[in-house]
Amino acid sequence: MLTVQSLNSSTTGRNSTVANVFMSQEFIVQFWGVRGNVPTPGSDTMRYGGNTACVEVLVAGQRIIFDGGTGLRALGKSLLDADKPIQASIFFTHTHWDRIQGFPFFRPAFTANNCFDIYGSAAANGASIKQCLMSQMLRPHFFTPLQKMSSTLTFHNILAGDVVSLDEGVTVETITLNPQTSALGFRITYSGKSLVYATDTSNIDSEHNPNLLYLAKNADLLIYGGTYSEVAFQDSTERGRFFWEKSIDLAEKSQAKEMILFHHDPEHDDDYLDQVGTEIHNRCSRIHLAHEGMILQLASVDRDA
Ligand SMILES: [Zn+2]
Repeated sequence: MLTVQSLNSSTTGRNSTVANVFMSQEFIVQFWGVRGNVPTPGSDTMRYGGNTACVEVLVAGQRIIFDGGTGLRALGKSLLDADKPIQASIFFTHTHWDRIQGFPFFRPAFTANNCFDIYGSAAANGASIKQCLMSQMLRPHFFTPLQKMSSTLTFHNILAGDVVSLDEGVTVETITLNPQTSALGFRITYSGKSLVYATDTSNIDSEHNPNLLYLAKNADLLIYGGTYSEVAFQDSTERGRFFWEKSIDLAEKSQAKEMILFHHDPEHDDDYLDQVGTEIHNRCSRIHLAHEGMILQLASVDRDA
């Protein structure tokens, strides 16, 4: 049996707890960006955070990063003091702004000796993950082209359905969650434990996408973009409620052991998210709302405890 323990709620970045457990063979998860669509700095979003999607997973001595929203900048900063070359596998669900805008500011990518494997599928217009990341760094959008990144960048074009094998028997399974945006969902499996990262799901229907149910089935930890939002929608409160209801239903149908909601709507401030988090948690105690800086550990517990 597994549980999720909150180790730390600091927003100040790397700490000794993470360093100590990195080699412990457990899953350690840190949320560096939990906001959907657009960064939301400001006094009313300080507690949940304003950076866009970026989640770091440490497992079996490896670093896996999901999405490169603006939270990736802070993650990169936390790694600068490392006393050995930095390696990581970065998986992009898709290439909307809120998933890639931190990449040009990921300072470890500008340092020789660091190595990054970058995974993503082709965008709806056919562009590869490398082309999408390069184009946002060209003038007139940006001033430093990707070629200035002196680390070793290896790009991997993946297709939905691929299973990526990393070192130490860690696998990352992929599946399509949203045909419109080509967004992928990911499931990491290691030593019988599983973590699912599912966001930008096709969420306007009342029924769950069968691919989402398949990916999330019996996951030890399900990270879910439960407040999907589009600027075109106006009534964010009603829309949010619809998706939160679906989140509770998903937790029950998937039988995920723990579920974390992130990708918070830019219009939802801290007080509102507090209220929502309490309401959801009261109905399903396995569900929590993510905040920037949150660290979780998938840890074994004594069956007899
Ligand atoms: Zn998106």
